[in-house]
Amino acid sequence: MKVLVTGGSGLVGKHLKEKKPEWVYVSSKDYDLTRECYTRGMFYEIRPDAVVHLAAKTGGIKANAKNQEEFFYKNTMINTNVVKQAVEGKVPRLLAALSTCAFPDTLQRYPFAERDIFSGPPAKTNFSYGYSKRMLHIQCMASREQHGLNYSTFAPSNLYGPGDNFDFETSHFVAAMIRKLHEAKNGDTIEFWGTGRPLRQQLYVDDLVNLIPILLERHNSADPIIVAPRQNLSIKEMVDTCLKISGKDVKYIFNGKLEGQHRKDGSNQKLLNLIGGLEFTTIEDGLGKTYEWYKRHQLKEKAKGR
Ligand code: NAP
Repeated sequence: MKVLVTGGSGLVGKHLKEKKPEWVYVSSKDYDLTRECYTRGMFYEIRPDAVVHLAAKTGGIKANAKNQEEFFYKNTMINTNVVKQAVEGKVPRLLAALSTCAFPDTLQRYPFAERDIFSGPPAKTNFSYGYSKRMLHIQCMASREQHGLNYSTFAPSNLYGPGDNFDFETSHFVAAMIRKLHEAKNGDTIEFWGTGRPLRQQLYVDDLVNLIPILLERHNSADPIIVAPRQNLSIKEMVDTCLKISGKDVKYIFNGKLEGQHRKDGSNQKLLNLIGGLEFTTIEDGLGKTYEWYKRHQLKEKAKGR
């Protein structure tokens, strides 16, 4: 089976390529998927039997909150084009990445379940990204209903891992935290946004990557499937864990700005029902591996004179 992976140069795509090198990986350098003609060209040239659709305009809270129109436009175009051209090309299987950001900002019960996805608007800070992911889910559901195709979606919680984006302007929280701590000198005081109280499920990228081939094979349902670890820690708890890993004598403060959603923990019960038992990487192990990778990567870059 020829499997096409969009978003092949991203965090998930790069790790997936290590696990499944026989699949075909494309990035925006190969095909700009915001453009229908290039998307059609991609399907025409590759002729896949299945698609793992990961391509997206992504970013942390700062990039998301500041660029709502761009996030909405690019993601809506990419998703609409990919699913439409897969339907036109009669590709029988498509598995697409949503995000737990697509779920409502506040709910009565936590952890939330797949059925809650449309029970209220997404958080203001990622309103456009959240809605574009909901539209992707609707397009997949509609393709199932109208054309009888097995198009299904999964919603990972926040991801992190080696090879993540460590640019302060666009990175997610874990990568920014690692970089800040790595660059801090003993005795420094560093600053983080918000109050440190919001809760997050941080998913180590290889845990998701190990699941993607299984989901591609077994996830045949009109409901999304949440992929999230059980650990649901406050931002402060994560900073404390990472500080310990860094071994540095550094103080930190929370500046109260851009607090973000209070909590967005999803249940992985449906995933467990589908695949049986599952062990997620703990935040201690995952942060340790990612911090080590970042340190080594920085040394390599220094040696190259960058
Ligand atoms: P990422 O690192 O930001 O990578 C995005 C990928 O999409 C890159 O390969 C990028 O190609 C490609 N892309 C962007 N714009 C494109 C365009 N116009 N045409 C074609 N390709 C384009 O994303 P990720 O972290 O691997 O995330 C993978 C999926 O999981 C995404 O759908 C994301 O929304 C979802 N997700 C991510 C997180 C997270 O915390 N990272 C959490 C939940 C869900 P270039 O490298 O060439 O730009």
